[in-house]
Amino acid sequence: MSEVRVRFPPSPTGYLHIGGARTAIYNWLFAKKHGGKLVLRIEDTDAERSTQESIEGILDGLTWLGVTWDEGPYFQSEHAAEHVAAAQRLLESGHAYKCFCTKEELEAKREAAAAAKGDYQYDGVCRDLSPAQVAEKEADGLPFVIRFKTPRTEGKIGFDDQVYGRVERAYADIEDFVIVRSNSMPLYLLCNVVDDIRDRITHIIRGQDGLANTPRQILLYQALGAPLPVFAHMPLTLDLQKAKISKRSHGEIVAVQYYREQGFIPWALVNFLVLLGWSTSDDREIFSLPELIEAFDLSGVTRSNSIFNYRKDDPKFFTDPKAININAHYLRAMAVEELAGLVQPFLEREGLWDDAYAAEKRSWYLKTIEMIRERFHTLKDFATIGRAYFSDDFPMDEQALAKNVLKHPELKEWLPKLADRFEALPEITHDEAERVCREFAEEMQVKPGIPINAARALITGQIKGPSMFELFAHFGKEKVVARLRNVTQYM
Ligand code: GLU
Repeated sequence: MSEVRVRFPPSPTGYLHIGGARTAIYNWLFAKKHGGKLVLRIEDTDAERSTQESIEGILDGLTWLGVTWDEGPYFQSEHAAEHVAAAQRLLESGHAYKCFCTKEELEAKREAAAAAKGDYQYDGVCRDLSPAQVAEKEADGLPFVIRFKTPRTEGKIGFDDQVYGRVERAYADIEDFVIVRSNSMPLYLLCNVVDDIRDRITHIIRGQDGLANTPRQILLYQALGAPLPVFAHMPLTLDLQKAKISKRSHGEIVAVQYYREQGFIPWALVNFLVLLGWSTSDDREIFSLPELIEAFDLSGVTRSNSIFNYRKDDPKFFTDPKAININAHYLRAMAVEELAGLVQPFLEREGLWDDAYAAEKRSWYLKTIEMIRERFHTLKDFATIGRAYFSDDFPMDEQALAKNVLKHPELKEWLPKLADRFEALPEITHDEAERVCREFAEEMQVKPGIPINAARALITGQIKGPSMFELFAHFGKEKVVARLRNVTQYM
């Protein structure tokens, strides 16, 4: 078999969204699995809607995800002459013709069909114009489009989609579609095929919304005398209301960049996206790259649309809970050193990072990351829920304050006393902290949990977290004492 060549051809009219990213990932995995090549092609023929910003955003998003391509980025706009030449060839070989019908004429026919409750399809009046008639109209300067001459044969054109199986369409249902506009601009459908032929694409793996184009594109391949690629269409991604996920209706929640800002680990997002429409027979959910390359196969792609279960209303689960859980899995399982590097930009963004962390506080920083990650779901959590570890200026969780501090008025007296005990120690260790807390609670005739939970609120601003004895030792005398004495700020 010849070399596998796949492509990812985004139109740069907006940000990279999760649907596009998933298609890119599937192509990338497929290429890797088969020792093939992934071609990145920017389909920027629509000059009005394409932007440089979008191109950069797409490249940036793919790079962040770790999706690598072997060729490109190529730009569709650089091949405009080839698209025109292809249309010319189709005219010359009799596979296309010039159509001089005016907009008004076509509109009238469309309305007549609608009035008769029939389906409108271009009736092909210009299909059989003689060369002399065409020459005459051109000499008169009449504008024309170029239409593909769909074979007038009985039967159907079909192909075996690798996901949807046999797909067929009657020739009679395919109108003579326009391939070049009256302003001489070739249409996207043609450009896409011409580029795929030039780039020697062997497998077209794309969204299910491309399925409707495929029969017409196959006609173009045949007319251009090119071998057909294999087609595989991926199911759509729907929201909980079963509406198609799109940039227009869902906004930033579907942008790859959004996941980056919310603290996703790139590989966790890749892992999640792969599962949106593909699964293994044993329903595994966590894969390393080599495992994914090994396991990925078009036969595992589902035909039913995938549901992207995002919830705008819950700030904790701002996106699909499965995505969050996969992210949390990697966050907790990955090497601390590596995680620390990913967390750093989030601390920097909040002004919580200074060079000290890079040098003398390095081991304290790594230990902190290791201690607090167990409850965290995103990289951002380190700078928000974990803020007290990196700054004395941190917010107090309302529930922690109400439940663990304000409920016990005695704490106003007790915590400064507890602070004195810690201050008297040469150094706080886990065991010393435990001894001090237990003795103190006994003297005050109160359950140890009461001063300990209050201390957690005052030291970390949170209601939950790692073992408090470890935290006393980790924060050290100075911070522990100051923060315990801070209780007077709240009571
Ligand atoms: N440029 C098209 C898009 O972004 C690609 C369609 C295709 O893969 O053929 O939807």
